[in-house]
Amino acid sequence: MNMVQMKCQNCGENLELDLDHLTAFCPYCGTKLLIDPDSIGDLLIAREKTKQKQLDSAREMDIRKSACRDRRFAKTFIIVTYVCFFAVFLLFMFFFFRVFFH
Ligand SMILES: [Zn+2]
Repeated sequence: MNMVQMKCQNCGENLELDLDHLTAFCPYCGTKLLIDPDSIGDLLIAREKTKQKQLDSAREMDIRKSACRDRRFAKTFIIVTYVCFFAVFLLFMFFFFRVFFH
């Protein structure tokens, strides 16, 4: 809910209006108030920009997180590959010595 401050066009009372509804009634004199889109246009644009910025930063965080995950996965993959090669090498040495020393 976005509240905007404005003055009643009839009685001049200060009002707080909900931006989600573009029409309202003055609680003091009952006049139907039309919220001028031009006067709240900047507010709405600012609100949209803030929303867009939040979306962008969330998306950026996602990209950064997945990049971090990819890097971690690559590191794990390299370690696993090294360990496998070492295991194969040990196995090879084991059979090699068994063949030659028995
Ligand atoms: Zn009024």
